[in-house]
Amino acid sequence: MVGRSLAVGLFLWAASACGPRSIEAPSPATPDVPLGRLPEVPLVEGPLAIRIQYPDSGAAIGAIDSNFIHGTVHNGRATLTINSAPVAVQPNGSFIAYLPVPDPMKPLYELVASVGADTVRLTHPVRIAMRRTVFAATGAPFVDSASVSPRGASLALRSEEPVRVSVRAAADARVWVQWDKEQHPLVNGATGPGPDVGDSVPDAAPARYLGSSERWSRDLPARIFQRGPTLFVARGVDTARFRLATVELTDLGLPVWGMLGADSSTMSDTDRVVVARAGPAGGYAWFFIPGTVVEVTGRSGDFTRVRLDGALEVWVNSEDIGLMPQGYPSPRRSVSSMQIVPAPGWVDISIPTAERPPHSVEVRDRALVLTLYGTTITPGLVRYLENDTLVRNIVWEQEATDRARLTIHLSSPPFGYLAMWERGSFVLRVRRPPVIDAGSPLRGLTIVVDPGHPPAGATGPTGLYEGDAVLPVGLRLRELLTARGATVVMTRTELGPVALESRPVTARRADAHALLSIHLNALPDGVNPFRANGASVLFFHPHAEPLARLVQRELIRQFGIRDLGIHFQNVALARPTWMPAILAEGLFIMMPEQEAAIRNPAGQEAYARALADGVEAFFRAKAAGR
Ligand SMILES: [Zn+2]
Repeated sequence: MVGRSLAVGLFLWAASACGPRSIEAPSPATPDVPLGRLPEVPLVEGPLAIRIQYPDSGAAIGAIDSNFIHGTVHNGRATLTINSAPVAVQPNGSFIAYLPVPDPMKPLYELVASVGADTVRLTHPVRIAMRRTVFAATGAPFVDSASVSPRGASLALRSEEPVRVSVRAAADARVWVQWDKEQHPLVNGATGPGPDVGDSVPDAAPARYLGSSERWSRDLPARIFQRGPTLFVARGVDTARFRLATVELTDLGLPVWGMLGADSSTMSDTDRVVVARAGPAGGYAWFFIPGTVVEVTGRSGDFTRVRLDGALEVWVNSEDIGLMPQGYPSPRRSVSSMQIVPAPGWVDISIPTAERPPHSVEVRDRALVLTLYGTTITPGLVRYLENDTLVRNIVWEQEATDRARLTIHLSSPPFGYLAMWERGSFVLRVRRPPVIDAGSPLRGLTIVVDPGHPPAGATGPTGLYEGDAVLPVGLRLRELLTARGATVVMTRTELGPVALESRPVTARRADAHALLSIHLNALPDGVNPFRANGASVLFFHPHAEPLARLVQRELIRQFGIRDLGIHFQNVALARPTWMPAILAEGLFIMMPEQEAAIRNPAGQEAYARALADGVEAFFRAKAAGR
């Protein structure tokens, strides 16, 4: 829950302000930074008026038990109750409360704010999500029709793959699948949590249906579903029937081949990759070069399963794969030679193969491990040109009949890499670590500063928008880094939107030595913000982990708030491989005192210094060989 919640600020909250906005340029003077605590929240004594920032009027509440509500009463001396519960008001009039979700029969928040004799009331309507069906002991309803699975999804599987049939129905019902005069009874309450169709359907079994004696399920082979069998639920004289999904079979003829990223108009662009995951709902784990041909072995909704080699299947977005004509020849990939080609900034390991191989790269201590799927390797010649020693040597093995593994031993820890396809060769470009002046570690380096959002982003109780709030931090960070000798490239210097995908591309094209993305955090519905707030830093690749730790240390030193630690997390700004990249969530914009802190130039200064000191400490440690 924590892992997921931390990323929410990135994509869930939309900007509430649409009109023109202005922002003050950062002051050249350095405000006093209260190290280790947040700046004081200033007193505001405006006319009493209640404005709720979240949830919106009429919005559906996604939480079951309790949820947060935040906004401002514009007066720090006010008292406030929400649905009769007293709520603390900050000196600037802002508040956040974590309260029981209103009764579905009366879906309202009723707010009463008072200062002296002045009282203001506000009734704020919301929508409460349907609670799950309660089964009566007799009569209908005794089946939750929304829980029937598989229904609706577009599925393709091998004939004997198990498909999980499930439904939530009264424990004393009779439940079975009927197909071709055969009845297959479902089992009551027997199974624990798990996906409904093999491993293939995302979110088919929401947690609320699991672990209950009202859950009925069983597995049946995919071939049963060719014509869509019927699910029956019966109790006494009542019978309900549901047509289940039809499943297409993928193993009846010759293999079907598909080309990844086939529709891409920018296939030659180094930055374009096709992402794949271990399951349809899983995180990105593979990044393939467009034009790679793979076998198609299944489909579930918007996801297509592809085979990388005899032992591994992964899932890609269906829109990322184009099917090849029937009888398309299977790709043949064999490596018979390699060449190691040095350049001033990097070393290329050039591996000629007839076709692009699906691949993965693992970062090790002083090595990169390159796996080439569907590939055989028997190099008779490996040429190390110009006697360069960044790549010390390459050890290869045929790990399986159709899988090659290369361990590339380096003379220093990996700093960055790129996987490319160039004129008939797979190329792994290994970046040289920068030469660092130990006394002035940032001198001569290029740092990309990414003030996060817009589009999207979170908004605080007084209406401060994340995208606006992090921009002055980024501009101040540019000043701090420039003063320490770095060249700074900004992904954004104005309030307007910059596409998420273009930000890592900016960093790669600038040959940045580090990418720092600046964000403020928020939570999804149903999480207690008083327990879950704090500072954290996200990273994706192992070579960015030390940078994440050092920035996190500085954030805690500056702000003195709860240390949520560092997180491996799959976010676009942490995914670049060419440089260490991190995404900082320095404060929670939804918390009134933290929102006030980032409004304050002292808080902006503290955030910028944490990033500058963190990245400087990272390169100082590199200079010292640590
Ligand atoms: Zn964000």
